[in-house]
Amino acid sequence: MQVVIIGSGHAGFTAVNTFLKHGEDLDITMITEDPYPFYPRPVIYKVILGEKPENVIRYPKKWYSDNNINLVLNKKVFNIKSVDNCILTEDGSKYPYDKLLITTGSKPFIPPIPGIHDGPVYCLRSINDALDIREKAINCETKKATILGGGLLSVELAKALSDIEISPTIIDRSPYLLRKQLDGEGGHFFNKVLDKSLDTRFLFNSTCQKIKRNGEKITMEIKDVIGVSEYKCEFLLNATGIQNDNTLASKAGLDLGKYAINVDSYMNTSMKNIFAAGDAVDIGSFPGSKFGIIPTAIDQARVAAQNILGKRIQYHGTVPWTTLRVAGINLTSMGNVILESGVEEKGLIVDFEKGIYRKLFFKDQKLRGVILIGTRENLRLLKELTLKKASISDVKNEINLT
Ligand SMILES: Cc1cc2nc3c(=O)[nH]c(=O)nc-3n(C[C@H](O)[C@H](O)[C@H](O)COP(=O)(O)OP(=O)(O)OC[C@H]3O[C@@H](n4cnc5c(N)ncnc54)[C@H](O)[C@@H]3O)c2cc1C
Repeated sequence: MQVVIIGSGHAGFTAVNTFLKHGEDLDITMITEDPYPFYPRPVIYKVILGEKPENVIRYPKKWYSDNNINLVLNKKVFNIKSVDNCILTEDGSKYPYDKLLITTGSKPFIPPIPGIHDGPVYCLRSINDALDIREKAINCETKKATILGGGLLSVELAKALSDIEISPTIIDRSPYLLRKQLDGEGGHFFNKVLDKSLDTRFLFNSTCQKIKRNGEKITMEIKDVIGVSEYKCEFLLNATGIQNDNTLASKAGLDLGKYAINVDSYMNTSMKNIFAAGDAVDIGSFPGSKFGIIPTAIDQARVAAQNILGKRIQYHGTVPWTTLRVAGINLTSMGNVILESGVEEKGLIVDFEKGIYRKLFFKDQKLRGVILIGTRENLRLLKELTLKKASISDVKNEINLT
């Protein structure tokens, strides 16, 4: 069977591994527009620090040839001819398939700020982006950078830039960092501990309304609670989120959800021989799962690959799970940590001296989320309990909640 995978990110690479583990007599082609084979995206900040790209690549090209995988780099797929069961790349090549897996991921969201496109705005998604950011950082006269957005990526960028002697300022419309991973209390706690270890300026509750450029000089119009003021910078980075590029899928005539490709629980698209996984998939049909994270991409790719092999395995969603260590601080956010009606907070620990914060979130007496900052105590156990939505009494048997 001829299997073609478009994309070599977390989903594509997981699918390849699943095929190697469970498949027989497969003719696998993996095509990516990236010039490098698979690398985990969370480690590309190392390239900003000066690490060579080959050191962040998970397996060299030889690994693919040794495993009989036809790895095609640096080629953009521009059309899927489902009637003829083949895909076309921009250089005019044609690749036939019996089964196709789309894992084209997502791309940075660029906010529609007037003037933003009048010059370079640096985003971090790939090794090449990291190389561009490093080059700009090295040549940046003021040694200062401004990052739009206050999510995970901004914090990672701020840390990487600080490490190469660039002072970052993070601008975010929220009152604290990591709005998707932390509740308000945890967010303010994280800001305080981060303040101690990272030389970063934060402009919270602030929105950039306009960008004006004069050569290398950038003037931003920032609106905050006090009013509108001008803010000057030379090196502007954007980390305000991600979005899907559905051009390929819609050209192919695939059904789209609100944001991305529609799939059923077998990760099958609206066309029988075409499957999709990862950031390219619309998460709308899988309540509780989160778009744009590695655990979702991995779970979906495993299911898609096995169904391509003829099994009948369903995807039931992924409990969101983020752990990172930034500026020496361990941070874990798992499950749903949004405070909405009916949600109870328990087991709170706040210790500024030690830099430790812990909070457990329950709904209908069941554990639905956990935040840990500065500690990994009971991490594995808490993950298990969150995954099985343990009852308060079961959690109390294992963890001291007072
Ligand atoms: C810097 C960074 C740090 C991150 N850190 C974390 C983290 O700590 N935890 C976490 O859970 N998530 C993290 N993420 C998010 C995570 O990396 C993504 O959710 C994950 O990569 C999604 O995997 P994917 O395979 O669906 O897409 P991607 O990894 O984006 O892969 C998409 C692939 O498709 C290829 N492609 C796209 N269009 C075409 C085309 N037309 N033709 C050919 N090839 C194409 C691309 O070149 C790429 O190879 C991070 C992301 C970034 C950028």
